[in-house]
Amino acid sequence: MGKHLVLVGGGHAHMVTLANLHTFVEKGHRVTVIGPSAFHYYSGMGPGMLGQTYTPEEIRFATQRVVENKAGTFILGKAVSVDADEETVRLESGEAIPYDIISFNAGSYVPRLNLEENVRDVYAVKPIERLMQAQEKILELVNQKKITVGILGGGPSSAEIAGNLWQLTSDAGANRPDIKIFAGKRFMARFPENVKNRVEKSLSNRGIEVLTNGYVQSIGDHRIVLETGREYALDFIFLAMGVIPNPIFGNANLPTGPDGGLRVNEFLQSTEYPDIFGGGDCIYFQKQPLDKVGVYAVRQNPVLYHNLMARLEGEPLQAFDPGGDYLLIFNLGGGQGVLQKGRIIFGGKPAFFIKDYIDRKFMRKFQAIEN
Ligand SMILES: Cc1cc2nc3c(=O)[nH]c(=O)nc-3n(C[C@H](O)[C@H](O)[C@H](O)COP(=O)(O)OP(=O)(O)OC[C@H]3O[C@@H](n4cnc5c(N)ncnc54)[C@H](O)[C@@H]3O)c2cc1C
Repeated sequence: MGKHLVLVGGGHAHMVTLANLHTFVEKGHRVTVIGPSAFHYYSGMGPGMLGQTYTPEEIRFATQRVVENKAGTFILGKAVSVDADEETVRLESGEAIPYDIISFNAGSYVPRLNLEENVRDVYAVKPIERLMQAQEKILELVNQKKITVGILGGGPSSAEIAGNLWQLTSDAGANRPDIKIFAGKRFMARFPENVKNRVEKSLSNRGIEVLTNGYVQSIGDHRIVLETGREYALDFIFLAMGVIPNPIFGNANLPTGPDGGLRVNEFLQSTEYPDIFGGGDCIYFQKQPLDKVGVYAVRQNPVLYHNLMARLEGEPLQAFDPGGDYLLIFNLGGGQGVLQKGRIIFGGKPAFFIKDYIDRKFMRKFQAIEN
């Protein structure tokens, strides 16, 4: 008899499963996909969209249309918790959806640390949809006056946001904003010195300031206070302090990793509940904790698809191998990039060119199944 497969989130690790959704239906199973938006945005191109290199349409995947074209059911909503013993997932609306097998690819979010009430013009870099609203607001502000934008966080997403904000506002004339990155104690701390220096130089050449004089302690209305007590007035604030997994699992008493991600074994399967699977930023891969980069979500795709089908059909599961070094390219705006793979590091236009080529190819591949 057919079973009910539920996918929570149509993120990067579910792309192959979504592309092959019809194969579950052909075997007599039902598939339901739950997501807060009819589209999934490709985060690797998010900063480029902020800088207007890409339109929102170019970086999104029509999840709802694909699901419905392939005879699945799409529910517009947010999963907030799971009852693994009852085998139901609960939505923000209160609705409870029963499942036989469930897979989570619900991503991560930027924690809103020490945010006072009623603060204005504070935007997290995730979900990527938020960058569209940020873009609109910034363009409105720079048309009126000279502003200072603060980007809180010292990792690659801060650098990418800063560089693309520079690109977005490059023709604002006298109103070109001052852009400051508040990087805590060290900028790009996870990366080799050579990568950090190239990124920092590319940004400082364009007048973007990288401050490493202390962590941000609190965020008020149009101002921040560092742990040292120093205060900065800001017209607009981006939160880019790193991400943590979707909070669904903490609400659900499922085994999680130290960061709250769904704890999974080598089969991308919950260590306690064999009918629960997951991929991408929302999992904690027990064997070897993984960086929160899209690369791993993309690599998990075929294994997740195989294992969901195998679990439904009673076949053996496949183990996920995270693989070795991965390619990282930062889009720093202004046509500039920095590329790193192992010990290969270079910057400038060629790095951006390679990223642009790879990202557009990825989108073309998955957008092709929309029709
Ligand atoms: C600005 C920025 C730039 C980045 N650039 C790169 C890069 O160039 N290369 C790289 O490898 N990594 C990059 N990353 C990291 C990358 O974003 C993540 O590792 C990647 O998005 C993880 O994919 P995911 O599918 O797990 O999560 P997401 O991309 O966050 O997708 C999660 C999906 O789940 C849905 N969802 C969310 N909550 C719920 C819920 N409660 N119920 C149901 N559905 C839900 C969302 O709508 C979304 O479609 C970047 C991150 C940021 C913030």
